[in-house]
Amino acid sequence: MKETYDVIIIGGGPAGLNAAMILGRSRRKVLLFDSGEPRNRWSRSMNGFLSSDGVNPGDFIRKGREELKKYNIQIIDHPVGTATYSKGTYVVESSEGHVYHSRKLLLATGLKDKLPEVEGIEELYGQSVHHCPYCDGWESRDKAIAVYGKDRNGIGQALAMKNWSDDVTLYTDGTRKLNNKDIELLDLNGVKVCTDAIARVEGSDGMLEHIVLRNGQSRPQGALFFSGETRQQSDIGEQLGCEFTGKGVIKTRRLQQANIPGLYVAGDAARDMQLVIVAAAEGAKAGVAINMELQQEDRVKP
Ligand SMILES: Cc1cc2nc3c(=O)[nH]c(=O)nc-3n(C[C@H](O)[C@H](O)[C@H](O)COP(=O)(O)OP(=O)(O)OC[C@H]3O[C@@H](n4cnc5c(N)ncnc54)[C@H](O)[C@@H]3O)c2cc1C
Repeated sequence: MKETYDVIIIGGGPAGLNAAMILGRSRRKVLLFDSGEPRNRWSRSMNGFLSSDGVNPGDFIRKGREELKKYNIQIIDHPVGTATYSKGTYVVESSEGHVYHSRKLLLATGLKDKLPEVEGIEELYGQSVHHCPYCDGWESRDKAIAVYGKDRNGIGQALAMKNWSDDVTLYTDGTRKLNNKDIELLDLNGVKVCTDAIARVEGSDGMLEHIVLRNGQSRPQGALFFSGETRQQSDIGEQLGCEFTGKGVIKTRRLQQANIPGLYVAGDAARDMQLVIVAAAEGAKAGVAINMELQQEDRVKP
């Protein structure tokens, strides 16, 4: 008979690791799977996390894993391929084909980002090309900030970036869908607009230096922000029949419960703000809720 874990956690980013810590400290038998691709791995520094502001994201994960060593947590560094639920048991199969059982399941598998299709952008991503001003706005303060958004998609972010710099230019990359009201609003708020098509971005050591237009013009820029599309990093939520919001994140209740018994979702994969500290907090909430559910199930009643 195969042993059954109290909880299997899929995903070892901040959400999964913090859940593991709470559950380990609750003396639960935990198995955590991780495929080692946290969303912010492109970045050199993780910002906005009190006491860890500016820490390297890889160091943050390594320290977290080190701290888990004293608890009863088994970690397998492989992706999970499939997960199913039947009659109170989750059955999880790793990519190597091994099968594991648990009473509860936590998905902390995160999201992945779609970058704008511009030559050279990938080399600069996470260093001087960003999507989140709360993560990287401070480091880009007072620079010549470019905002990338086709059609009318960049208006909100361009206006928001004025918070961090007086020098903001919205690039619509060859699209001309801004109407007169948009242009007036951007102009009144001191946002410059460039509708010419972009050929490539150029920089060195991760730092953006120029945006080169198809017309040959080269414009000096110190940072670029975009608001791009995201997708679930794993399809396990879909496999299990989770409910999703229109934005592609999994619907959860107050303590991270999903719509399937015993299933919890924490971090970026679930709705709510996408920050490391929020992901970790959601992991902690899910950990407490899972432990309380197990306590209720196991309590001997008169
Ligand atoms: C470039 C960039 C910079 C950022 N900078 C900041 C910042 O400075 N400050 C901040 O607060 N936020 C920042 N963020 C946001 C931050 O990365 C996320 O909010 C945070 O990582 C979410 O944590 P998570 O645990 O939900 O997911 P993740 O950190 O993405 O971790 C998910 C984990 O699950 C694993 N996984 C996925 N599928 C499977 C599977 N099937 N089997 C096993 N494992 C699986 C992945 O490999 C990964 O390790 C940044 C994001 C990006 C893209």
